[in-house]
This record gives sequence, C-alpha cells and structure tokens, in this order.
Amino acid sequence: MAKVLYEKDINNTVLEGKKIAIVGYGSQGHAHAQNLRDSGYEVVIGLRAGKSQAKAEEDGFTVYPVDEAVKQADVVMILLPDEAQAKVYEASIKPNLKEGSALAFAHGFNIHYSQVVPPANVDVFLVAPKGPGHLVRRTYEEGAGVPALYGVYQDVTGQAKDVALAYAQAIGAARAGVLETTFQEETETDLFGEQAVLCGGVTSLIKAGFETLTEAGYQPEVAYFECLHEMKLIVDLLYEGGLENMRYSISDTAQWGDFVSGPRVINEETKERMQEILKDVQTGAFAKGWILENQAGRPQFNAINRAENNHPIEQVGRELRDLMPFVKQPIQDKQKEVK
Ligand code: NAD
Ligand code: MG
Ligand code: MG
Ligand code: MG
Ligand code: MG
Ligand code: MG
Repeated sequence: MAKVLYEKDINNTVLEGKKIAIVGYGSQGHAHAQNLRDSGYEVVIGLRAGKSQAKAEEDGFTVYPVDEAVKQADVVMILLPDEAQAKVYEASIKPNLKEGSALAFAHGFNIHYSQVVPPANVDVFLVAPKGPGHLVRRTYEEGAGVPALYGVYQDVTGQAKDVALAYAQAIGAARAGVLETTFQEETETDLFGEQAVLCGGVTSLIKAGFETLTEAGYQPEVAYFECLHEMKLIVDLLYEGGLENMRYSISDTAQWGDFVSGPRVINEETKERMQEILKDVQTGAFAKGWILENQAGRPQFNAINRAENNHPIEQVGRELRDLMPFVKQPIQDKQKEVK
C-alpha cells in the first residue's frame, strides 16, 4: 500500500517566512494563491497583462510581470497552461530564479518531456491536485481539500520534499491525503486518466449513448437527461462510496443491467485501445503531437472544439440548463481567458 500523508504527518516549518510566487492565475492559480494566503503565506502573482491580472488584483493580490515575481520568490509555482510553460520559462523564469529556491509544478509534463530543463542550483518538485482548480478552492473554504500527489525531481537544499509537503498542506491537500509519486508516474497517469477515463472516456460514452437514442427516434431532451444530466448524480454516489454505494442506490433492475450490459460496452477490445493510449503517453508520441499542434497554431484543436460545441447534445443541453438555473455551479469557468 502506498503511504498516504495527512496534516499530522507534515512539518510545515520549512515553508514559514518564504515568499511564494504563483505564475498564472487560472483554474489552479487562483486556488493555490488564495489557499496559500489563507494558510498564512506571503503570495505574489506573476502574470502578463490581461484578464487574469484584473481578477488577481480584484482578489487582493499584488501582480508583477513574471520576471519580477520570480526574482523575489523562494518558491515559484508554475501554473501556466502546460503548452505555454516552456516559452515563459526560457524568457522570464530561468534567468531570474534565485539560487536555492524551488521551482514547482502542478503537473509533470514539461519536466518529464524535457520542455523545461531546470538549472542545477534549485529544488524542483510537483504538487499535483487530483481535481479541478475550482474545487481546490471551494473544498478548502469548506474546511476540506482535494487530494494531491507530490514528487521531487531535484533536491539541492535537502529540503525539497519537506517544502513540497508543506506546500501541499497549505493548499488544503493534506486534509484529503497526499501521496508520493515521481514526475514520470504523475505525468503518465494524469494524461492517461484524462484521456481514457475522466474527460475523453466520459464525453465519448455520453455522446455515443445520446446519439444511439436520438438516432433511434427518441426525444433529444429525454436522451440528454438520461445520458448527461444523470451522470452527475451517479458519479456523486461513486465518489461518496464506490461502486457498491452507487449500486445500493439504484434499482436492482438497473444493477442487473449494469452487470450484463456494461461489459458489452466497455470490454477487452476497449482495454486494448486504452493500452494503446497509454503507450502513446509513455513513448512521448502524445506529447509530441500536442507540442506540434500548438506550434502550428492549434488548427485541429480549434476545428474539433468548434464541432464539439455544436453537437446536438450541447444544443439541447443549453436550452434545458437555462430552465434549471440551480444546476449552474460557480465552478463554471467564467474567469478563463479565451486562448
Ligand atoms: P489555466 O489555463 O486555467 O490558467 C493559465 C493562467 O496562465 C491564466 O491566468 C493565464 O492568463 C496565464 N497565462 C497563459 N499564458 C501566459 C503567458 N504566456 N504568460 C503569462 N501568463 C500566461 O491553467 P490551469 O488549467 O490552471 O493549468 C495550470 C497547470 O495546472 C498546468 O500544469 C495543468 O496541467 C495543471 N493542473 C491543472 C488542473 C486543472 O484543474 N485545470 C488540475 C491539475 C493540474
Ligand atoms: Mg486549462
Ligand atoms: Mg488530472
Ligand atoms: Mg491533466
Ligand atoms: Mg434511470
Ligand atoms: Mg440496488
């Protein structure tokens, strides 16, 4: 069993009195910055001018250009989009890192795939929350937290691990559990999980179900409720108590259908596809494709995104959600810049 650490296991004195620069103020950035501040740490924000800057200032932070923020910091947490990190790192972060400071990430992508090559005189660690940034903030405010992985890539001060753990505690993660990992494991499992299960898997499953029903002549509104809306209610039960808890709450008819039909949808063949996806992550083929896609100005990303937003499930969903204002959570990412 992996060792899961909680607040009682963590000594946060190593982080006391240190100045933390949060570079980027998006989904993770706003959450880390506010949680660290509420945990008593001094936080400055590094950003280019733009929408995020106004948001960070509105939230009471002092915002500096990235190079200025890095110069004064003992810990620099990079919370820029993964695809923007290498460029900003070269131009504004690398030349300004203080010797013996710590360079930190919330995802291992750029270190693991060598897009960012840190100097030898700084600590390098990751604290990767296993949840969306808006929940990192919301759960912290509720006295809870989102679990996180931590890992050390480079330890020059002898304190990298303790600083990482203290940081994890300060953003609330140690209330939920903090688990040691490596940059490789975090990167590969995170990319696999979001592609095959959490994001890619779930959206494809929902769309396939919706299309099957509507193509057979059923009303799109009914198909939407069945395949998308109810997903959250089922996932809440899974989150609270695993498969058994969800199956306890559904009818035995639904449970029997789950047993006999689930494996007809997701089967050995699906698992083989998942293994291919994992291979592409492990070999760097996925990373290479995504880096090139960005260098080309995202032609495929933008085209697919437009088509997806026009899918019939999105059209009917918008209309139905307008009639159910209570489903709209503050998590809706209104602050995000259009990239
Ligand atoms: P985001 O897109 O929500 O926010 C990025 C921020 O960076 C914004 O404030 C934006 O204004 C700023 N920015 C973008 N380009 C910039 C530039 N060139 N110079 C200066 N600022 C710039 O990003 P995110 O989703 O919070 O992801 C940040 C990191 O956290 C990534 O490494 C990601 O993998 C990781 N992560 C994200 C989540 C999540 O919930 N979104 C979960 C776990 C880990
Ligand atoms: Mg994002
Ligand atoms: Mg993830
Ligand atoms: Mg991810
Ligand atoms: Mg039902
Ligand atoms: Mg039952």
